[in-house]
Amino acid sequence: MIDRRSVLLAGLAGLPVARLAFAAVPRDVEVVIVGAGAAGIAAARRLVAGGRSCVVIEASGRIGGRCVTDSAIFGRPCDLGAHRLIAAAATPFPAMARDLGVRLHEPEEEETLRVGRRRAEDAEIDAFSQGIEGFGQAIHEAGRRGVDVAASEMLPRGLGRVGDLVAFAVGALDCGKDLDRASSLDLARARRGSHHVVAGGHGALLARLAEGLPIVTGVAAVRIDRSGRRIRVETSAGTIEAAAAIVTVATDVLARGGIRFDPPLPGDQEDALVGLSLGVRERVILEIPGNPLRLRDDEEVFFVRPGKRTLRLTGNVEGGDLVFADVGGSFADELVRAGERAMVDFALSSLVEAFGGEAKKKVARGRATAWRRDPLFGGASSCAEPGHGDDRTILRRPLDGRLWLAGEASHPTLWGTVGGAFLEGERAADEVLTALPG
Ligand SMILES: Cc1cc2nc3c(=O)[nH]c(=O)nc-3n(C[C@H](O)[C@H](O)[C@H](O)COP(=O)(O)OP(=O)(O)OC[C@H]3O[C@@H](n4cnc5c(N)ncnc54)[C@H](O)[C@@H]3O)c2cc1C
Repeated sequence: MIDRRSVLLAGLAGLPVARLAFAAVPRDVEVVIVGAGAAGIAAARRLVAGGRSCVVIEASGRIGGRCVTDSAIFGRPCDLGAHRLIAAAATPFPAMARDLGVRLHEPEEEETLRVGRRRAEDAEIDAFSQGIEGFGQAIHEAGRRGVDVAASEMLPRGLGRVGDLVAFAVGALDCGKDLDRASSLDLARARRGSHHVVAGGHGALLARLAEGLPIVTGVAAVRIDRSGRRIRVETSAGTIEAAAAIVTVATDVLARGGIRFDPPLPGDQEDALVGLSLGVRERVILEIPGNPLRLRDDEEVFFVRPGKRTLRLTGNVEGGDLVFADVGGSFADELVRAGERAMVDFALSSLVEAFGGEAKKKVARGRATAWRRDPLFGGASSCAEPGHGDDRTILRRPLDGRLWLAGEASHPTLWGTVGGAFLEGERAADEVLTALPG
């Protein structure tokens, strides 16, 4: 039976709420950080370690941003956004996880391809691998020459029936955008590498890293005025004066004026917010007790089918009863507009296609995310539009030595990842530490 209550990403019981270090919003600090996602948490850790006074203001009632583990819906940890720790070795996460006793592991990497009720044949699997490899080579070759066009131009021709699957895997699923809306240069610079599963959830690990930090939830920044000697951050709970501010809010939120800047951001930075718009990735979570589909733990299942209406299943997440059905790109955008019921129905129809009518009866519950429709996000993660491959350099440039925009979108290679956001929060904080008078 499918329960129809919708997933509200904010305000659910069981989501991590910060332990407050402030009873109320302070009126004067050295640094204000806007947003308590990975970047905001990283920046606050760095500033606190550097002995500076700071406050993180977070508009929603919870911390973690796009990296959040919920335990209320299914009675066990479930990542609603970021799930895999990407390119772990390039980030501080392995060391931080070790210090906290949190286990990371790399699942078996081999994906399963299905064509209707059957598993794909060797020739189809080879064609898929060659398609991914050919695309990667073409992207890197174009990147070396500085070519910045739609990444769809780099898709190898003649891939036959696996062509649409290659486009889905490298575009809609990885970047949240169909390849005709993704910059070849941005993709060429992207660093990905290993994928680790974080025991207990990626968001749960991030929440532990936020413990004890001066975070106030339920407080939104509405205007940032840097015309005077000190920066004034006007919030829904009064004005905070500070020497510097780090804004970690998603590009789409800033591009549509979610926070007013006075004076306005320079034109090239405003353009970069639009050029680095968010792609769409959404997750349907199915509870299927007892593994009737006989999937391996964390097994990824792709479907060879024509067109963009497709998904990736992740079986028995962390050895439990949850199966993730992830959608992306323009199709995910269409689906999320149609509502949670349509999203769950789509995932169920794919289960039936691959495993037969009985599979649907084994599903106890289904839920779906709606990041795209959440005004605090507007999507999953940034991916540069064609011709905007250099926008990340523009976005990360500090303003007047006291205002920084930092987050996943400002990392030149680990954009779109939690690790990239965390590193950018640390970078901005390090620059603030250098800029502030001793
Ligand atoms: C479905 C999905 C799957 C993903 N999968 C992965 C994955 O497997 N691995 C991976 O590494 N990454 C993944 N990502 C991307 C990853 O989650 C993000 O790149 C990362 O979490 C972004 O962190 P951030 O700190 O830059 O921004 P955010 O997490 O967006 O943090 C910004 C914070 O600012 C707050 N805010 C907004 N407006 C205001 C305001 N006016 N005042 C105060 N606060 C405000 C928001 O509520 C938010 O908490 C996924 C994302 C989604 C949605």
